[in-house]
Amino acid sequence: MTTSAELFERACRHIPGGVNSPVRAFKGMSQPPVFIERAQGAYLFDVEGKRYIDYVGSWGPMITGHADPEVLNAVRERLDSGLSFGTPTAIETTMADLICEILPSIDMVRMVNSGTEATMSAIRLARGYTGRDKIVKFEGNYHGHSDSLLVKAGSGALTHGEPSSPGVPASLAEHTITLSYNDIEAVHECFEAMGEQIACIIVEPVAGNMNCIPPQPGFLEALREVCDSHGSVLIFDEVMTGFRVALGGAQAHYGITPDLTCLGKIVGGGMPVGAFGGKRDIMEQISPLGPVYQAGTLSGNPLAMAAGITLLEKVRQPGFHEALSTRVETLCDGLETRARDAGIEMITQRAGGMFGLFFTAQQRVDNFGQTMACDAQAFRDFFSHMLESGVYLAPSAFEAGFMSSAHTHDHIQTTLMASERAFAAMRQ
Ligand code: PLP
Repeated sequence: MTTSAELFERACRHIPGGVNSPVRAFKGMSQPPVFIERAQGAYLFDVEGKRYIDYVGSWGPMITGHADPEVLNAVRERLDSGLSFGTPTAIETTMADLICEILPSIDMVRMVNSGTEATMSAIRLARGYTGRDKIVKFEGNYHGHSDSLLVKAGSGALTHGEPSSPGVPASLAEHTITLSYNDIEAVHECFEAMGEQIACIIVEPVAGNMNCIPPQPGFLEALREVCDSHGSVLIFDEVMTGFRVALGGAQAHYGITPDLTCLGKIVGGGMPVGAFGGKRDIMEQISPLGPVYQAGTLSGNPLAMAAGITLLEKVRQPGFHEALSTRVETLCDGLETRARDAGIEMITQRAGGMFGLFFTAQQRVDNFGQTMACDAQAFRDFFSHMLESGVYLAPSAFEAGFMSSAHTHDHIQTTLMASERAFAAMRQ
């Protein structure tokens, strides 16, 4: 049997850091990454035959569990017709219609191949539409790895201690204004000073890349208000929150309508898909209708559309998100109780089907500074104990956790029992 450690060593020879996305490397954790061979429902199975209850879900898409038979069948059914044609296909229209139906703020939508492409294209569109260069983002929000957005970013960029990456030209980064998440005052000051130069605000309406930080009451409302009064475009990056926090995403959950929305993860059912869409007059600026260029050889790929449509049809079943939130509540309440009983300072934060664990004495975590002040060593210890017990959490204190409908009461109770052992061991 080949072990994960052996595979990792081999991977490091020809793949930088042995991984194709940095957070997978378990950097900052006390062990090398686990290599996964297959997954089913709530479980991951590693190459050594060990089974884990998974709370990462491929970083979000697997909201009905891994290897969902209906999603796999949808892909299988289309497989023999060919992988890609580079022409229009009817299934792309089906997907566009479905997205516009589920998200009423979207009049028109363009499919792309990743969340990064979605946010990058939405930013270009906002700049093209307004004729302005400056953009506003929030510290610790991650919007993929395009140059303009890799300034004070979250996710892997945080785990690796490089919120701003070398290789991003200073002349470009200077157009990105970074404010503190949930700081309404800072938003007002910024727009008073230079509102007429700002093309857009891009925001994670629930921050999920510096752990899980919901917006404070009034924060998203304030963003809507300043964009309206200064002619700037409000972009909700719902790559993570879309179809997860609620069927209609965070915009439905909090009742705020953005001008543009970025989607990814669930919309592709586990295939490489992203999308951006919004108000008709803005979207009509995109080529070939308008002058703002955007394209993709594999965009709207038929197999990917089949997977995504099937998953979206599943999550729009009545009661799906209520049941998902209940599972999150049970897990998070259970973890908090067990931590408290063991004398460990830990809180949880939740939004629909996503959650975060913070090792801190604070009552709430609202921004990047507060998330950075949490106890990283405690998280590392907890992560290791849970992994040992067969529970796979995100290998970073800065990532949100994801629940799926495949997680049963038993999975959650098993997880809570594992946490009891972990907290007890951490006390020693
Ligand atoms: N936006 C958000 C909120 C994300 O969480 C991510 C990825 O985690 C992205 C954008 C980038 O998406 P992708 O990794 O598909 O490029």
